Amino acid sequence: MPTVKSCLQCEKPLHGRSDKRFCSVACKNAWNAARRRNARSVTEQIDNILHRNREILAMLMGEKTTKMEVDRLVLDRAGFNFKYITGIYTNSQGKLYHYVYDFAWMEFSKQTVLIVRK
Ligand SMILES: [Zn+2]
Repeated sequence: MPTVKSCLQCEKPLHGRSDKRFCSVACKNAWNAARRRNARSVTEQIDNILHRNREILAMLMGEKTTKMEVDRLVLDRAGFNFKYITGIYTNSQGKLYHYVYDFAWMEFSKQTVLIVRK
């Protein structure tokens, strides 16, 4: 039995060309607009996580400090998300730094993280 394709937007059955995906231009436009909205909300969520990560590092460091050790738990409790970074680099001693904008953190030990201001 041949399957009847349906409009991606309103799910009305489609007739005619087999590569048709929408029943109308209006449905096509609505679907594309929704996709753009979704894409934007995904980037907004990630932006928010990164901004919060940076705020946490900035708050812990204060104005004067450029380098400090901090317990991983402190970052966890503040809501720091270790999975989101803006970049990565290995220094001359082979230490792996994770950038969060103008800050960076490095796993010092299982419990301790070194944070630096770039
Ligand atoms: Zn439709």
